[in-house]
Amino acid sequence: MEQVLLLNATFEPLKVIDWKRAIRLLTLGKVEVLEEYERDIHSVTFAIKLPSVLRLLRFVRYRKRDIKFSRLNIYARDGFRCQYCGQKFESKDLSFDHVVPKRHGGKTEWTNIVTSCCTCNRIKGGRTMKEAGFRLLKKPVKPSWVPFIMVTIGVRSVPNAWLDYLYWNAELMDT
Ligand SMILES: [Zn+2]
Repeated sequence: MEQVLLLNATFEPLKVIDWKRAIRLLTLGKVEVLEEYERDIHSVTFAIKLPSVLRLLRFVRYRKRDIKFSRLNIYARDGFRCQYCGQKFESKDLSFDHVVPKRHGGKTEWTNIVTSCCTCNRIKGGRTMKEAGFRLLKKPVKPSWVPFIMVTIGVRSVPNAWLDYLYWNAELMDT
């Protein structure tokens, strides 16, 4: 069954909930519907379109979860896109790369690790960006929530209607 993306009153994605919880929030008048799926939900008394994106009418304060520095979260941050050639790959065809090589003092941390396809990884080797003539798609930063949500639900199952809300926030975060 479809999942529903729940946004805070500020349009920031909070979490993914199941449709039953979504309907409950709706009937309680706590949310507004921003996007809908094609499918209807029928009950004895009503039929409505299944919501896809909901926004809370009242702002909810919450503690941000610290993102684990993991391979999958790095891929998710970079949208499963090689940060050198810009192509998208499945996780099995991806690797990660030190932007500043280890031998130049490059650390293994969010701001120095990027998603890389195996080909670019091999070509760059232990060289610096300049030596390899490589350019980065975007500067790597430590993410807050995006990878968490993307990984939780699986990147390939993200409904199109969600992307605007997810990426809109991601870009704000990157600047
Ligand atoms: Zn590449």
